[in-house]
Amino acid sequence: MPAAKKTFWIETFGCQMNVHDSERVAGTLCAHGFAAVERAEEADLILFNTCSIREKAAQKVFQRLAQFRPLAKEGKQFGVLGCVAQQEGEAIFQRAPHVNLVAGSASYPRLAELIARLEAGEKRVTGLGSAEEAFETELTRRDHPFRAYLTIIEGCDKHCAYCVVPFTRGPERSRASASILAEARQLAAAGYSEVQLLGQNVNSYRDPSPARLSFAELLAAVAEVPGLRRVRFTTSHPRDFHPEIVRVLGEHETLCDHVHLPVQSGSSRVLAAMRRDYTREQYLERIAAIRACRRPLAITTDLIVGFPGESDEDFAATIELLDEVRYAGAFSFKYSPRPNTASGAWPDSVPEAVKAERLMILQRRQQEIQQHDNQSFVGRTLEVMVEGHNPKLGQWIGRASTNRSVNFTGSGLREPAAAALPIFAAPLRPGDYAWVRITKAGANSLVGEQAAAPAAAGRAMWKSR
Ligand code: SF4
Repeated sequence: MPAAKKTFWIETFGCQMNVHDSERVAGTLCAHGFAAVERAEEADLILFNTCSIREKAAQKVFQRLAQFRPLAKEGKQFGVLGCVAQQEGEAIFQRAPHVNLVAGSASYPRLAELIARLEAGEKRVTGLGSAEEAFETELTRRDHPFRAYLTIIEGCDKHCAYCVVPFTRGPERSRASASILAEARQLAAAGYSEVQLLGQNVNSYRDPSPARLSFAELLAAVAEVPGLRRVRFTTSHPRDFHPEIVRVLGEHETLCDHVHLPVQSGSSRVLAAMRRDYTREQYLERIAAIRACRRPLAITTDLIVGFPGESDEDFAATIELLDEVRYAGAFSFKYSPRPNTASGAWPDSVPEAVKAERLMILQRRQQEIQQHDNQSFVGRTLEVMVEGHNPKLGQWIGRASTNRSVNFTGSGLREPAAAALPIFAAPLRPGDYAWVRITKAGANSLVGEQAAAPAAAGRAMWKSR
């Protein structure tokens, strides 16, 4: 009888980069004889892939480690991966002595070797240091059946005053365009219809190969990969968001109707203190260029309130910016000082209560904007990628090209490409595309019912898989 496989369980915190890193870590482990399990209690190796962008996220990891500590008595091993590992290093062993592995993202190319040392009986294994190359592996174990992340660039050279990423993820390393395109073709061949290009700053992409594709050229090339129906990309830095990218967005329908362009503050004074490398006016020029695209694009953003020195006037400028840009969505946070950042050494001058109040005002205003602007979708028909089903509400759950969440009712049947409505042939499944007529709009989602494809729809109407 073959020996039982060792098992692992991984919990991921933070951004899509981390989610995708976990997929690559899982793939590496599976290739080295491990099997994934659903619960920590069933695993031999318990991994936390961590985020240190905000203090709260970092604290959570130590809470989880403490919560699972009793399992160490059963001989289970613990590993801390990702940004907290890179930031705290061996200090993690002091704070959580039951941890056996500390590995920052820069060490993932050596992950198999680190795991082997753990298996050979070493009690504490550390993988830190700085990365010089992009982490490329054939061993990714993707969790999502129809949407795939595809890393094109890792690390960051921008050094925003508040951000720990350049420290935890190292300098920018772009992947060769041929390797990215080969993976995109493999994904399409494997049945993925949506690909999301990932990087801390995707639009800082610099092709290291002789092809020397710009980010815009890479986008166009990925958009042309047969079988891909939706291509997204995140995150973009405003400084490098050149008009060429907007032109390509206008030309390729496969590229989603969505740009995420983090602004962080509406005050040029605060932006300068943050070392964001653009002013409010320059940011608004980028927005104007995006708005001038041949087709309408939803714009979303990230915002920080309470950055050191942020005055009432600075905050008012951020609220004015919300009104001016009218974002389709915004992630907003209270500033928290982080170790190994420039602003971490500055006085955290905005009182916590003021930060909380500003965040509340900002989020309320943004919700009002979304509630108002989403009304314009009522009566329109959108193509939605089906993500799941909510049996309680009897609704399908999906996402429009703009990344808006859409809940819809209907026959739940998908149409054969050649047949005319209302004849539906087979049940909808996650990964299918359906047309939905929007009947109601909330601040955070749209509601509708399955409908016929609009006559002008340029894309293949229904997906069969
Ligand atoms: S651009 Fe700024 S905020 Fe974004 S990852 Fe780089 S340093 Fe951090």
